Amino acid sequence: GTARENLGYEQFGNAVRELAQTIADDGYVPDIILSVARGGVFVAGGLAYALDCKNIHLVNVEFYTGVGTTLDMPVMLAPVPDVVDFSDKKVLIADDVADTGKTLKLVRDFCLDTVAEVRSAVVYEKSHSLVKCEYVWKRTDDWINFPWSVLPPIHKSGEAPKGNKEAL
Ligand code: 5GP
Repeated sequence: GTARENLGYEQFGNAVRELAQTIADDGYVPDIILSVARGGVFVAGGLAYALDCKNIHLVNVEFYTGVGTTLDMPVMLAPVPDVVDFSDKKVLIADDVADTGKTLKLVRDFCLDTVAEVRSAVVYEKSHSLVKCEYVWKRTDDWINFPWSVLPPIHKSGEAPKGNKEAL
Protein backbone atom coordinates (compact mmCIF):
# COMPACT_ATOMS: atom_id res chain seq x y z
CA GLY A 1 0.00 0.00 0.00
CA THR A 2 0.97 3.66 0.07
CA ALA A 3 0.40 4.14 3.79
CA ARG A 4 3.44 5.23 5.78
CA GLU A 5 4.37 4.72 9.42
CA ASN A 6 6.19 7.92 10.38
CA LEU A 7 8.46 7.70 13.41
CA GLY A 8 9.91 10.94 14.81
CA TYR A 9 13.02 11.24 16.98
CA GLU A 10 11.05 12.10 20.13
CA GLN A 11 8.62 9.21 19.56
CA PHE A 12 11.61 6.93 18.94
CA GLY A 13 13.05 7.96 22.31
CA ASN A 14 9.84 6.89 24.06
CA ALA A 15 9.64 3.69 21.98
CA VAL A 16 13.12 2.55 22.97
CA ARG A 17 12.39 3.15 26.69
CA GLU A 18 9.16 1.13 26.41
CA LEU A 19 11.01 -1.63 24.55
CA ALA A 20 13.63 -1.71 27.33
CA GLN A 21 10.88 -1.91 29.97
CA THR A 22 9.43 -4.97 28.20
CA ILE A 23 12.86 -6.63 28.20
CA ALA A 24 13.49 -5.79 31.88
CA ASP A 25 10.01 -7.01 32.92
CA ASP A 26 10.72 -10.28 31.10
CA GLY A 27 13.81 -10.73 33.26
CA TYR A 28 16.25 -10.84 30.34
CA VAL A 29 19.56 -9.24 31.35
CA PRO A 30 21.84 -9.18 28.28
CA ASP A 31 25.62 -9.17 28.69
CA ILE A 32 26.09 -7.91 25.14
CA ILE A 33 23.92 -5.85 22.82
CA LEU A 34 24.72 -6.67 19.20
CA SER A 35 23.57 -3.87 16.91
CA VAL A 36 22.82 -4.40 13.24
CA ALA A 37 24.22 -1.39 11.37
CA ARG A 38 23.12 0.99 10.43
CA GLY A 39 19.54 1.37 11.72
CA GLY A 40 20.09 -0.94 14.68
CA VAL A 41 22.84 1.32 16.04
CA PHE A 42 20.25 3.89 17.19
CA VAL A 43 18.17 1.18 18.86
CA ALA A 44 21.20 -0.47 20.48
CA GLY A 45 22.44 2.82 21.93
CA GLY A 46 19.07 3.58 23.51
CA LEU A 47 18.64 0.06 24.87
CA ALA A 48 22.20 -0.02 26.22
CA TYR A 49 21.57 3.09 28.35
CA ALA A 50 18.07 2.02 29.40
CA LEU A 51 19.23 -1.49 30.37
CA ASP A 52 22.53 -0.22 31.83
CA CYS A 53 24.56 -2.47 29.52
CA LYS A 54 28.00 -1.11 28.60
CA ASN A 55 28.96 -3.83 26.13
CA ILE A 56 27.83 -2.95 22.60
CA HIS A 57 29.04 -4.80 19.53
CA LEU A 58 28.22 -4.15 15.92
CA VAL A 59 27.68 -6.13 12.78
CA ASN A 60 27.34 -4.62 9.30
CA VAL A 61 24.79 -6.27 7.04
CA GLU A 62 24.12 -5.23 3.47
CA PHE A 63 21.24 -6.29 1.31
CA TYR A 64 22.20 -4.91 -2.11
CA THR A 65 24.47 -5.70 -5.08
CA GLY A 66 25.97 -2.23 -5.45
CA VAL A 67 23.74 -0.82 -8.17
CA GLY A 68 20.60 -0.34 -6.10
CA THR A 69 19.17 -3.82 -6.59
CA THR A 70 18.67 -6.17 -3.66
CA LEU A 71 20.17 -9.61 -3.29
CA ASP A 72 18.12 -12.70 -2.47
CA MET A 73 20.00 -12.88 0.82
CA PRO A 74 21.70 -10.26 2.99
CA VAL A 75 25.47 -10.53 3.51
CA MET A 76 27.58 -9.82 6.57
CA LEU A 77 30.46 -7.43 5.93
CA ALA A 78 33.93 -7.63 7.50
CA PRO A 79 34.93 -7.32 10.24
CA VAL A 80 32.46 -9.79 11.74
CA PRO A 81 32.19 -9.80 15.56
CA ASP A 82 34.20 -12.53 17.27
CA VAL A 83 31.23 -14.44 18.71
CA VAL A 84 33.49 -17.31 19.80
CA ASP A 85 34.40 -15.04 22.74
CA PHE A 86 30.69 -14.83 23.66
CA SER A 87 30.28 -18.49 24.70
CA ASP A 88 29.08 -17.61 28.22
CA LYS A 89 27.23 -14.44 27.20
CA LYS A 90 23.57 -13.59 26.86
CA VAL A 91 23.23 -11.56 23.66
CA LEU A 92 20.50 -9.14 22.64
CA ILE A 93 20.38 -8.38 18.91
CA ALA A 94 19.02 -4.86 18.29
CA ASP A 95 17.62 -3.65 14.98
CA ASP A 96 15.17 -1.07 13.67
CA VAL A 97 12.78 -3.39 11.84
CA ALA A 98 12.28 -7.05 11.05
CA ASP A 99 10.73 -6.81 7.58
CA THR A 100 11.43 -9.98 5.58
CA GLY A 101 13.39 -10.99 8.70
CA LYS A 102 16.27 -12.21 6.51
CA THR A 103 18.77 -9.79 8.08
CA LEU A 104 17.89 -10.81 11.65
CA LYS A 105 17.84 -14.49 10.74
CA LEU A 106 21.38 -14.18 9.35
CA VAL A 107 22.68 -12.49 12.51
CA ARG A 108 20.76 -14.77 14.88
CA ASP A 109 21.93 -17.95 13.11
CA PHE A 110 25.49 -16.59 13.20
CA CYS A 111 25.29 -16.35 17.02
CA LEU A 112 23.01 -19.24 17.85
CA ASP A 113 25.49 -22.07 18.39
CA THR A 114 28.30 -19.99 19.93
CA VAL A 115 26.63 -17.81 22.58
CA ALA A 116 24.85 -18.82 25.81
CA GLU A 117 21.55 -17.26 24.74
CA VAL A 118 20.37 -14.97 21.96
CA ARG A 119 17.20 -12.90 21.74
CA SER A 120 16.15 -10.09 19.39
CA ALA A 121 14.63 -6.66 20.01
CA VAL A 122 13.20 -4.47 17.25
CA VAL A 123 11.16 -1.28 17.16
CA TYR A 124 8.95 -2.71 14.40
CA GLU A 125 8.10 -6.18 13.15
CA LYS A 126 6.10 -6.89 10.01
CA SER A 127 3.66 -9.78 9.91
CA HIS A 128 5.52 -11.66 7.15
CA SER A 129 8.87 -11.64 9.01
CA LEU A 130 10.40 -15.12 9.05
CA VAL A 131 12.00 -14.31 12.42
CA LYS A 132 9.62 -13.70 15.30
CA CYS A 133 11.50 -11.36 17.64
CA GLU A 134 11.16 -11.81 21.40
CA TYR A 135 10.76 -8.06 21.91
CA VAL A 136 8.77 -5.80 19.56
CA TRP A 137 7.58 -2.26 20.22
CA LYS A 138 5.00 -2.06 17.40
CA ARG A 139 3.70 -4.21 14.58
CA THR A 140 2.95 -2.73 11.15
CA ASP A 141 2.90 -3.79 7.52
CA ASP A 142 3.35 -0.23 6.22
CA TRP A 143 6.64 1.20 4.99
CA ILE A 144 8.31 2.91 7.95
CA ASN A 145 9.96 6.32 7.71
CA PHE A 146 12.72 6.35 10.33
CA PRO A 147 13.99 9.75 11.47
CA TRP A 148 17.61 8.91 10.57
CA SER A 149 16.95 7.80 6.98
CA VAL A 150 13.89 9.74 5.85
CA LEU A 151 16.06 12.61 4.58
CA PRO A 152 18.71 12.26 1.85
CA PRO A 153 22.44 12.30 2.74
CA ILE A 154 23.93 15.76 3.26
CA HIS A 155 26.39 17.08 0.70
CA LYS A 156 28.55 20.18 0.65
CA SER A 157 26.38 23.25 0.08
CA GLY A 158 26.30 24.23 -3.61
CA GLU A 159 27.67 20.92 -4.84
CA ALA A 160 25.67 18.19 -6.52
CA PRO A 161 25.15 15.01 -4.51
CA LYS A 162 27.35 12.06 -5.50
CA GLY A 163 25.82 8.81 -6.70
CA ASN A 164 22.16 7.95 -7.01
CA LYS A 165 21.31 6.76 -3.50
CA GLU A 166 17.83 7.69 -2.41
CA ALA A 167 16.70 8.13 1.18
CA LEU A 168 14.88 5.09 2.54
P1 5GP B 1 14.83 -7.34 6.41
O1 5GP B 1 13.94 -7.40 5.18
O2 5GP B 1 16.08 -8.14 6.20
O3 5GP B 1 14.08 -7.75 7.65
O4 5GP B 1 15.23 -5.82 6.59
C1 5GP B 1 16.47 -5.35 6.15
C2 5GP B 1 16.63 -3.86 6.37
O5 5GP B 1 15.87 -3.20 5.37
C3 5GP B 1 16.14 -3.27 7.69
O6 5GP B 1 17.08 -3.38 8.75
C4 5GP B 1 15.96 -1.82 7.28
O7 5GP B 1 17.21 -1.14 7.29
C5 5GP B 1 15.46 -1.95 5.86
N1 5GP B 1 13.99 -1.88 5.87
C6 5GP B 1 13.12 -2.91 5.82
N2 5GP B 1 11.85 -2.48 5.90
C7 5GP B 1 11.92 -1.12 6.04
C8 5GP B 1 10.92 -0.07 6.18
O8 5GP B 1 9.71 -0.29 6.24
N3 5GP B 1 11.40 1.21 6.26
C9 5GP B 1 12.73 1.51 6.21
N4 5GP B 1 13.10 2.79 6.29
N5 5GP B 1 13.70 0.55 6.08
C10 5GP B 1 13.28 -0.75 6.00
